[in-house]
This record gives sequence, C-alpha cells and structure tokens, in this order.
Amino acid sequence: MKQIAKVLFPVGVPEPFDYVVPTGMQLACGDFVYAPIGKQMKLGVVWGLGQADTDRKLKDISERKNCRALNPGMLKFVDWTAKYNCAPLGMVLRMVLRSYKALDPSPIVTMYTPRSAERLVGLSAGRKRVLDLQDIWPATASDIAKAANVSASVVRTMAGPSRLLEKISVPLDPPFGTPDPDHEGRQFALTPKQITAGQELADLVARQEFSIALLDGVTGSGKTEVYLEAAAQALRQGGQVLILVPEIALTQAGLRRFAQRFGTEPAQWHSAMGEAARRRTWREVAAGRAKLVIGARSALYLPYADLQLIVVDEEHDNSYKQDEGVIYNARDMAVVRAKLSGASVVLASATPSLESLTNARTGRYAHVILPERPGAAVMPEIGLVDLKEDKPENGRFLSQPLIDGIAEALEQGDQAMLYLNRRGYAPLIICRACGEKLKSPDTDSWLVEHRRTGRAMCHLTGFSMPMPSACPECKTEGSLHPVGPGVERVAEEATQLFPQARIEVLSSDTAGNPERIRERMERMAAGDIDILVGTQMVVKGHNFPHLTFVGVVDGDLGLAGGDLRAGERTYQTLVQVAGRAGRAEKPGRALIQTHMPEHEALEALAAGDREGFIAAELSMRELLGLPPYGKLAAVIISAPDGKKADEFARKFLAKAPRAEGIEIMGPSEAPIAILRGRHRRRFLVKAEPMVNLSAYMQAWKSRLRPPHKTKLQIDIDPQSFM
Ligand code: ADP
Ligand code: ZN
Repeated sequence: MKQIAKVLFPVGVPEPFDYVVPTGMQLACGDFVYAPIGKQMKLGVVWGLGQADTDRKLKDISERKNCRALNPGMLKFVDWTAKYNCAPLGMVLRMVLRSYKALDPSPIVTMYTPRSAERLVGLSAGRKRVLDLQDIWPATASDIAKAANVSASVVRTMAGPSRLLEKISVPLDPPFGTPDPDHEGRQFALTPKQITAGQELADLVARQEFSIALLDGVTGSGKTEVYLEAAAQALRQGGQVLILVPEIALTQAGLRRFAQRFGTEPAQWHSAMGEAARRRTWREVAAGRAKLVIGARSALYLPYADLQLIVVDEEHDNSYKQDEGVIYNARDMAVVRAKLSGASVVLASATPSLESLTNARTGRYAHVILPERPGAAVMPEIGLVDLKEDKPENGRFLSQPLIDGIAEALEQGDQAMLYLNRRGYAPLIICRACGEKLKSPDTDSWLVEHRRTGRAMCHLTGFSMPMPSACPECKTEGSLHPVGPGVERVAEEATQLFPQARIEVLSSDTAGNPERIRERMERMAAGDIDILVGTQMVVKGHNFPHLTFVGVVDGDLGLAGGDLRAGERTYQTLVQVAGRAGRAEKPGRALIQTHMPEHEALEALAAGDREGFIAAELSMRELLGLPPYGKLAAVIISAPDGKKADEFARKFLAKAPRAEGIEIMGPSEAPIAILRGRHRRRFLVKAEPMVNLSAYMQAWKSRLRPPHKTKLQIDIDPQSFM
C-alpha cells in the first residue's frame, strides 16, 4: 500500500494528479507541496489523500512547503466554483493563488529610530540633521539619508558605537490596523429607520450561520451606513468582513468612509494593485489578521481564515460578472461562499436584480427596506423628453428642455450632470464621399473617434490608430465625418452653450486610474465643476451635494440589441443616474431624452412606478421561461475561420445529451461575429428551474473536445449576449 496525494496545480487542468507521499512526510488537505510535472518542479495544493495498492508509476511529492495551508472551506469553494461554472478546476485555484510571495512571511527590513531625545553636543552637522528629523521614524537608512541630505553610511554608523540611532527589524508589509466596531466616527446620527434596518442585519450576523438578506433601499437612503452596522457586528464577533464593490467605486473617497466608521483604513483588493500591496493583503487575510476587506469581485477568492459576512454593494451591477478566463458571477458565488462557511450575505442595491428581488419576496432572502432618504433630502423628479417633439438642432444632441434644465441649475449656483454611456467624440466615423465606415481590423465593430487624443479606437479590442486625414477607401482628403455623440462631443456642445461654465468629462479615457477618478470626484463634490459630462463612471456610489440636475442624453442606448435584460438594465442605470441628483437639502431633477417615451421601462421610470415595471418585466420573463423562472447558459465557439467554427458548432450540437426540460437555441452567428480575427458562434440553452444546468453543460462539454485552435466556452447565467 502506498499513500497517495491528489495534487491540484494552478493551471488549466480539470482535476488533480496523483503522487506518492514519501514515507515520513506528513500531509493534510490544503497543504502546499512541490511536485514534479514533466521536467519542472511546480507548486500545487493537496486536494485529497488516500491509500492505494497500485502498479501505476507515480512520482513522489518532493517537498511540503512550510506555509499556512488553504482551509477546507476554501477547497470546497474552489470545487464548487469550477463545477457550477463548468470551468477547469486548476484555473479556479489559479484565481486563489494571486501572490506566491504571500505564502512566505513578510520580508524584513532594517530601520532606524533615535535612541534618546537628549540633546547631544559636538555632533557633526550631518548627524545633527538626522536627529532633527521629525515624523519619519522608524525609517530605512536610505529614506533617512535622503531626508537629512547625508549619505546612508552616515546613518548606519550612527547605530554603531556612538549609539545615536537604534537598529530595528520590521516587516516590510506592515499589518493592517484593527477596525474598531465602536469607533463611531460618523458626523451624523442614523435615522430610526436606518437603525432598525442595521439591527435586522446585525441580528442575522449574530446568529453565526448562513443567511442572506437583500438590503433594498432607494438611492441615497444610507445603505452603506446600514450595512456597516452588520459589519460592526461581525467584527465584534472577531470575524472577517468582505465588502465587494464594483471596481469603479473603489476610490479613496469610498475607502475614507469605511475608515471613518471603524477608525482605520480597510485592506483593499483590486486588479490595479501592485505585487507588494497584493501579497500584503493576501497574507494578512489568510492569517485572519485583516478583519475588513474592501475589494472588487476577485476579493471573493482570497483565503479568509474566518469569514463571517460578505456584503455585495450594488448587487445588480454588471461588473460582478467576469467574462473572461473563468466565467463567473461574484454575486452568486458570494452566496455559495457564505453557505460553505456558514456566513451571512448582504446584497445591497437601490435597483436589485429581478432574481434577488424574487428571492426576497418569496422569503428565501430576508428583505430589509429603506424607503426614503434621511433628513430633508427627497427623491429626484424624473421626466422624459420626447426627441421626436423636442428635436435638438441639426448636428446637436441636447434638446431645449435639457438646456433649460442645465441653465436653471447653474443660475441657482448648483451643478448639472450630463450622462451618456459612450466614450470618445463620436461612435462612428463615416466617409462623406464614398459612404465607407471605419471598421476595427479583424473585428465586427466600428472605430470610435477620440478627439482628445486624435485617435480612432476600437472599444472591444483596444486597437487604435491616429485619426486619418483622408478616407482609407477612396482616399478623399477631409471627407471623414463623425456620426452621433460621445461624451467629448456633448462636452463640446455644452461649452458652446455655456461658455462661462467649468465643464469636465469623466470617462475611463480621462480618468482611468483610481487616483484620477478620486481627484475629479472630489472637485465635483467640492463644487469646482459646474457641468460634469460622464459615462457609466459617474453612476456609481458618489455623493455630490450641489448636484441638482441630471440630463440623460440618450435614454434608449441600453434598450437596443437582443439582450433579455435590456429593459431591466436601462431601468437600473437610469434610476441610479437620476439618483445622483438632490442628495442633500436641495431637491433634484432628472430629464431623459428618448425616441421611445412609450417603452415600459422609461414610462415606469417617469411615473416613479417601480412596482409596475417589476410586475411587467416579471410576467414577460415568466411567459418566456427566462430567469428567475428558468435557467440560461450560453455556449460560445470560436475558431480562426468561419467554416471551422460552423463545423465544430454542428458537431457539438449533435452531441447534446437528451434531457427533459432543456431547450437548445442555435448555433447562430454571435452578434459580434468576428472578434480579434476569431469567428464566433453561439448557443443559448434554456432550462426549467429544477434542472441542474451546470451538470448538464458539463456532461455535454465532456463529450467532445474542440480541435486545435477552436475554443469552446460555457457561460452559466450569461449577462452579455455579444
Ligand atoms: P446609498 O448607499 O443608499 O446610496 P449612502 O450610504 O451613500 O446611500 O448615503 C448617502 C449620503 O447620505 C451619504 O453622504 C451619507 O453620508 C448620508 N447619510 C446617510 N445617512 C444619513 C443620516 N442619517 N443623516 C445624515 N446623512 C446621512
Ligand atoms: Zn471614402
């Protein structure tokens, strides 16, 4: 009999490999080990242990890595994620192991502090400058040297026989501060309704078992303040808290709010973080020392030691869905994670997804409601502008009612915001001579004109080139013409209309990194901007007390296309955009320009009839058997040429297992039929609620391997239908 360990490697493998455990090596599930794979030695995780009497030629595990193991809850979560999303197990493990350095203790650095405050005579000028430094201690020799304008060797010798400085060893990655649940650094008192809601959530957390609550509160009702009370409860119990936010909401201003409430900055996790910050957070989370983590969706895959609460802020938000690599929805996986570790989940939103809302109404989730804004703040009034009646002037995009709305806000010394979810200057560039439209190479997408940078860009692939002066097709000079508006063009129009106003654009082009976003948000909040023109970026989680008018340039943008959630998403976005207005004492107003004022999502919005909208949308979904009344999965097949894609799609369809309650639609050309030179085909699979759709898709997928260069992707509960 041999002792066998199953070892999972963080690469694209579907399952662990077997190895022999050498005599004398003590192993447990979750341990990190080095084992040979091919000619390489690789780091993997023990996924299972057992005895076997086998003649199979198995290799030995080389070494157990001396570090903290992954805990059983984490292993189960990785298994679950892979199974539910039909993803290779090793790829999910790879999402967990985002920093190998975090497995080792923090590197130690040598720092120096002054030994005594005593004034000494006869010091050299350099040494004196060192000892005169304030607010720097402890510090490294090079930092001290720089600050005191001496050489580093001067600093080091001061820790020698003269004993002016003391040498200490400090971890390079310092621990995070401990959040204090009773810090109470708020500038205001919670309203009675907020207190009750906070208490309800805290009570669920106090039970220390799996629970889910939907915190359903209008924009500006104080949901953050309320879920922080649930967080306080988890912290009092000594547990860890994860607050998931859409990536864009991860700004310094946001972090400061958490710091204010608990007296210390939380640990962060997001994609733009450097290696040092990454390993620090990972290590501290694994050790259970980082108690409060604010992160984007991938923070869900950190190895928490004792996770007691997960908050999913803006739970309806699209950015919780990861569409590349392992395709998963962090909101849904948060629920799984909590279930596996007996934790609580709070899903917070002013516009909950219909799925979550249905779960709350049928009693599967606790439903905590905040119906109003605190104090004098009232909900904004929302109106529609019918573009068929109020036509903007030729070549213009702002109608008279919008212009009047802005003017009125500015006259009162308030701010206005214009929302258009389109980056750049114009979404389409057309040749007036030959009618050619500039297209992205090898991709079914138009190039977008960006005037600020003078380039033509593809937003799907990131391709860009200098804006040509002549048509690439007919070579006519000066014939290229922008069609339609992007934020830059709207800002240009606003500048012509309001030449005195301070106008700025906020999009991922003008403020890509968190620092730049924060800086612009702060100036907006301080009243240093009169008109902010923004994309999706302005929608999330910001408070502008002087903003009283919001104009939506194109309310129809989200309604185009065959997306089943188009109505829901448009409704959610516009509620959120309008909800930016009137957050303080001054009442706010929003106007939405549209060609379809009779569309039910827009009508409901203008009438403030959320219930009516939800009822209509749900009955449509029920009729069609769509979520939440049924399940969906998508299959995306792509190949370097169209024939290969079609051929594999046909073969794959023939392999579909026969099953009750399953309907397969397709294959058909994807709406973006060519992306980066790959030809794409899609299936949509619809299942009745009781069907285990993940298992079905996994079974189907395992029946046929795609040939070389052809790719097969499964997307459970697709959000994008591109
Ligand atoms: P939501 O997340 O529901 O949109 P927030 O928690 O961001 O709402 O709160 C909106 C704004 O109202 C914030 O600036 C917050 O500080 C403020 N606020 C919340 N509750 C109160 C209260 N009880 N009194 C005064 N201001 C409050
Ligand atoms: Zn031309």
